[in-house]
Parts: sequence; structure tokens; C-alpha cells
Amino acid sequence: MVIGVFGGTFDPPHLGHLGVADRVISSGLADEVWFIPCRDHRFGKTPAPYDARLAMCRLLINGREGMRVSDIESTLARPGYTYDLVVTLKDTYPDHAFRLIAGADVYHERDKWHRYDEIARLAPPIYLAREGVPPIDLPALEAPIGASATTIRERLRSGKGPLDLVPAAVLDYIAQHGLYRRAM
Ligand code: ATP
Repeated sequence: MVIGVFGGTFDPPHLGHLGVADRVISSGLADEVWFIPCRDHRFGKTPAPYDARLAMCRLLINGREGMRVSDIESTLARPGYTYDLVVTLKDTYPDHAFRLIAGADVYHERDKWHRYDEIARLAPPIYLAREGVPPIDLPALEAPIGASATTIRERLRSGKGPLDLVPAAVLDYIAQHGLYRRAM
């Protein structure tokens, strides 16, 4: 099988992420999409706890066929580079092929990534155009829903709602666990 490796902070996961996963599966470029939250944020911000982001991803996909949430990042040595993730996935699941799923913003920031060229060789990326992000000079799928976790966190902190970009089950989890109440 071809697995779309959907890594991210997912802080919180939102309908934009779900739209990306749907789009990748419906395009036939991958058979399954695995949501793989990173344990720590790559570029120094402090996200919500890892277990909370895993739980919210599970609530987001809500058992959808072809989608899974993986906690394999918890087995990686810190800082848990995507390169290490891809190597570990290939070692752990030798019968699968892997493709990195990445929004256009990731492509523009690839110079900041550890061994991005190697990642792209091991797990050829599937890129998605992203609202508010300059287009890239490679084929990219259209993402159906413009949403960003940054905007969602800001709206939660300022008490703005309703948040139609986050499913009710995830919003309930956020409220129950008191997430995103103050600037991190
Ligand atoms: P933040 O605003 O905190 O940076 P985010 O909404 O970009 O968060 P991430 O968890 O960082 O979410 O994203 C994981 C992956 O999903 C990245 O490759 C990102 O480009 C992609 N992505 C997220 N939202 C969208 C969207 N609405 N359309 C296309 N790609 C997206």
C-alpha cells in the first residue's frame, strides 16, 4: 500500500487537515493517510501536550476509512526529525511505500528542514496548495478548506466563535481540557 505520511503539529487539528487527507485519498495518490503528530514543535513553539493532540486527531478523523492516527513519533529520539520518522516507517513497514503530505508552506520552508532532499527521495512529497501561501512550481493538489491552526488558536483565546473549522468533538475536548486559553 501507499501511505500518505501526514506529519504536523495538529495544534489543534482542523477541517483543513481532514480536507487534505480526503483529497489525497480521493486523488488515488495514496491508499491511506496516517496522521502523525510531532512530539515537540519543530521550530521552538510550545504546543498543547502530545497526548492531547493525538486524542484530538483521533476525534477529528472519527474512524474514517483509510485514515489512521499514529503515535510512532513517541518512539523516536528527540528532536524527532521527519527524516528519522520516514526512515523508521520504512524500516517498520517494509511492505508499504510512503509519501510525505505537505502543504505549500512546507515546500517554501524546506531549507529549514533536516535532510529535506533525503526525505523527498524516501517519501516523494504530495504537495497541496494552501490559501494565503504563494503557489509552488511543482504539481500540487487543491486543498478544499482554507484553515490554519494559528488562526483557530487566536480565535479560541479571544473567545470568538462559533468555530466552524473544528468539529464539535474536538471543540468539546479543547473545552474539557482547558486548552488554548492563554498565549503560549
Ligand atoms: P499552524 O498554523 O500552527 O502552523 P497548521 O494549520 O499549518 O498549523 P500543521 O499541523 O502545522 O497545521 O500542518 C500540518 C500539515 O498540514 C502541513 O503540511 C501544512 O502545510 C498542512 N496544512 C494544514 N492546513 C492546511 C490547509 N488548510 N490546506 C492545505 N494544507 C494544510
